Amino acid sequence: MIFIKKNILVTGARKGIGRIISELFVSYGATVIGTATDEGGVKNINMYLGSKGKGVCLDVTKQYSINFCLQEIHKEFGHIDILVNNAGITQDNILVYMKDDEWKSVIDVNLNAVYRMSKAVIKPMIKNHYGRIINISSVVSMIGNVGQVNYAAAKSGLIGFTKSLAKEVASWGITVNVVTPGFIDTDMTKNLTDKQKENILSKIPIRRFGNPKDVANAVVFFASDDSSYITGQTIHVNGGMYM
Ligand code: NAD
Repeated sequence: MIFIKKNILVTGARKGIGRIISELFVSYGATVIGTATDEGGVKNINMYLGSKGKGVCLDVTKQYSINFCLQEIHKEFGHIDILVNNAGITQDNILVYMKDDEWKSVIDVNLNAVYRMSKAVIKPMIKNHYGRIINISSVVSMIGNVGQVNYAAAKSGLIGFTKSLAKEVASWGITVNVVTPGFIDTDMTKNLTDKQKENILSKIPIRRFGNPKDVANAVVFFASDDSSYITGQTIHVNGGMYM
């Protein structure tokens, strides 16, 4: 797979899954613009991307931040060919104790931001008759999880969003797909207790947590020409936890 002359925007690229996605794209010749929420993160991205791309500051919950970020990208790189909506957060609580803020911020980062980011890049993609949007959902969108009504709602929302947008833009050569990771070894899962990990592992037929590269491989496939006839679809990367 070759992504030479392709500009790829990866949100939440400083660490975890977003970083490995960015590094994998770069290894296939792409120009990657990776986003971080602060200057320290931008520096970090610039260090690992080197001359193959650029780190930019972006808060996906703020429309002005999205506008500014895309203007800067446009000046330096032109349009975005491929958008990976990877940024995400969790704020777990069971429903009876959940605060409005926990509900709202998880919906805002994981779902509303995907609407904002996709809307911001879609017109140039339509004009170019080419584009790829890949949304990072979660296995929790399929099976639910105690303490994650907010996260599950947001990540399930992404599936319907993806299918609808896929239908809207297919005739312009744009595909929109979803990757749903299972439990992946990143900062997002590092605070699970040993007991929780043991319990999760017992439900994963492959008997290990995934690593970010497992997810990145699926993202790269959806971004590639090899998947040009596949749209509105979901690849589950979860070791068999949900089939
Ligand atoms: P992570 O915490 O390492 O990375 C999340 C990234 O999102 C960070 O770089 C963070 O800065 C960024 N982010 C958070 N809020 C943002 C905002 N307002 N604006 C811009 N960026 C913001 O976690 P990860 O595991 O690498 O998660 C990446 C994606 O994968 C997320 O969407 C997550 O929901 C999803 N996911 C992760 C797992 C897992 O087990 N780790 C499982 C399923 C899905």
